[in-house]
Amino acid sequence: MTNDDIKRMIADIESEVKFTRNMIGKSALDPRVMKAMESVPRDKFVPGDVKSAAFYNGPLPIGDGQTISQPYIVALMTDMLSIEPSHRILEIGTGSGYQTAILSLLCKQVYTIECIAALSKNAAARLKELKYSNIETTIGNGYKGWPEHAPYDGIIVTAAASHIPEALIEQLKPGGNLVIPVGEAYMSQELMLVKKDEQGEIDIKSVLGVVFVPLVDEPI
Ligand code: SAH
Repeated sequence: MTNDDIKRMIADIESEVKFTRNMIGKSALDPRVMKAMESVPRDKFVPGDVKSAAFYNGPLPIGDGQTISQPYIVALMTDMLSIEPSHRILEIGTGSGYQTAILSLLCKQVYTIECIAALSKNAAARLKELKYSNIETTIGNGYKGWPEHAPYDGIIVTAAASHIPEALIEQLKPGGNLVIPVGEAYMSQELMLVKKDEQGEIDIKSVLGVVFVPLVDEPI
């Protein structure tokens, strides 16, 4: 990777943010998020045959029929969480661990769940090798969340759920944000921002049309 590759990726994200500003309600993302996007080497998270495309602003295959999201979507979803350095964040859908690495630079602790054992193990090894240390990985069904470490300051789901899982709302702290694509598999879905206020009231807003691999609901 070269500095020019990363600079181009960052410029592409910035222009797509501007292009979608009417939908996402802002024309620039949090500079802390953009700094994290600049520092995580995306080429280390994608397989050899697609490495040359690692800094293009598009999704890429990561094996096992799964994909790593487009950098713009990773940046936008991270921004929507409004992460503070003291936060503990739950991620559903570890995949390659790329989004996990971005989160780990912005918060105190990341807990991440993946249902495909091989992907989870590879991501854990990769994150350790790249020295991201504030991350706990597990293999499981994200529809159920990870009750052991709940409640979380923020929850991010990186696969399309058929509905907003009740368990994730329960495991969200008052004042916390849940970012989740909702809709039918392989169709256009809606990226939702679910806010729980200090009184525990839920507010749901649809932000953008997106396409994600499905969040599968099978016992593990
Ligand atoms: N955030 C990832 C990309 C995730 S792709 C990255 O940056 O690379 C979505 C991932 O969600 C896939 O790896 C898929 O196996 C996983 N997944 C699908 N259903 C799940 C479920 N119910 N629980 C946990 N993970 C799930």
